[in-house]
Amino acid sequence: MTLFSFSSHELDFIDDDEFHEECGVVGIWTTQDAASLTALGLHALQHRGQEASGIVTYDGNQFHTHRGLGLVGEVFDDPRVIASLPGGMGIGHNRYATTGETQLRNVQPLYGDFEFGGFAVAHNGNLTNAQLLKQSLVRRGCLFQSSTDSEVFIHLIAISLYSNVIDRFIDAIKQVQGAYSLVALSKDMLIAARDPLGVRPLILGKLPYSQDENSWVVASETCALSSMGADFVRDIEPGEVIIIDHDGVRSIHPFADNTSSRFCIFEYVYFARPDSVIENKSVYMARKKIGAELAKESHVEADVVVPVPDSGVPAAIGYAEASNIPFELGIIRSHYIGRTFIEPTDQIRNLGVKLKHATNRAVISGKRVILIDDSIVRGTTSKKIVEMVRAAGATEVHLRIASPPTQHSCFYGIDTPAEEKLLAHTHSIDEMCKLIGADSLGFVSADGLYRALQEDKRNNQNPQYCDACFTGDYPIPLTDHDMQLVKSK
Ligand code: AMP
Repeated sequence: MTLFSFSSHELDFIDDDEFHEECGVVGIWTTQDAASLTALGLHALQHRGQEASGIVTYDGNQFHTHRGLGLVGEVFDDPRVIASLPGGMGIGHNRYATTGETQLRNVQPLYGDFEFGGFAVAHNGNLTNAQLLKQSLVRRGCLFQSSTDSEVFIHLIAISLYSNVIDRFIDAIKQVQGAYSLVALSKDMLIAARDPLGVRPLILGKLPYSQDENSWVVASETCALSSMGADFVRDIEPGEVIIIDHDGVRSIHPFADNTSSRFCIFEYVYFARPDSVIENKSVYMARKKIGAELAKESHVEADVVVPVPDSGVPAAIGYAEASNIPFELGIIRSHYIGRTFIEPTDQIRNLGVKLKHATNRAVISGKRVILIDDSIVRGTTSKKIVEMVRAAGATEVHLRIASPPTQHSCFYGIDTPAEEKLLAHTHSIDEMCKLIGADSLGFVSADGLYRALQEDKRNNQNPQYCDACFTGDYPIPLTDHDMQLVKSK
């Protein structure tokens, strides 16, 4: 997570608060009860953000807002909360910040009263020039209420000299750099937009049962559609702005040079829910294929293939199928504690891993085990799991990772620690293996990962995905970072 820097006196107005977050967004255009549906959609997108959640609705007369810290089920558990959000149009947001204080003022959707009326925005992704924009906006008199990068959208729209909402919105997105999938709501329309490289996902769906023929859903992932009973229509394209109003759905492509897309490859590896379909590819099937590639690339003789649940399960199934080694649930995960990754200190994180995972001796004891996980970040999880599997009687433990080594931080919305805290940034594979305590360690290659995603291999001149976390090839300028306007975690 990148934090505001205090390096110059000029920047003292900027909070040292958390800035980066992974998120899920939902938008609803006209149905009986937008708030309930939005909450259902957010529920299905809970994996994209577990710290806070919010919904803004419009009832044809006024806007209503409820935002809170916690899981969707906690924030919207009281029926009176949903009842306080009347209206047929709504947008919602799940926020995931991994360290630091989560404050209510940072919880989205963000809302502002403008010349043209109320306007709410929910953002998934991360902007890379938000600090630079914020400096000049603050000098112009804009009063920031939060420390989230997303607030620059609100101020850019507010000061835009264009007269109508759409032109102001487009004016704003043309000034930002970075990754964004946005949903926004005015009294007349729902707007959805993806950045020109389409780094974060965003899809359009339709509500078939609504009395209104013109009822639409926008969501981060297709898994949200099933929970809302909506049908998939299509992915929103990179660089596309969709406007939904009483006349139906319109599409605008405001970026002339919008030639290639760079969807985040880590969404396929880890972040998206496995039942989602992105760009016509099932995330689950992609993960299985990554596992099969991994089996081909780093085969080892063993008795069982064991996933680190839940993130390693589909890849382990693919590995087991491709290698003809039996798949077994040798580690059982408790679903009653949160992601260990979000615990703030190493000590608590270590404890968290023990609470979260238990070994199933029946399938491990006396066996040569291939352990499969999706990624190694700091190495805490792998080290602990390898220790546990050995303690459960495994004779050999071979760790296989369904992504290339994570050597670089993400600046586009996947929370990763600073480079120097990434195990693969500071250690060779042999050193990592020794540190983790495995008998062998293997990662899928970048080409293997691309093959699993139905590409021949990585096109090094013009890569098909954003894979900066693995390659260091950042497709969008890191303006704030390069100008040292942000500091890393
Ligand atoms: P670590 O213990 O720091 O090496 O983290 C690795 C584990 O965290 C793996 O099991 C991944 O499934 C999971 N993971 C990887 N990236 C993230 C992320 N951005 N947020 C939460 N969990 C993650």
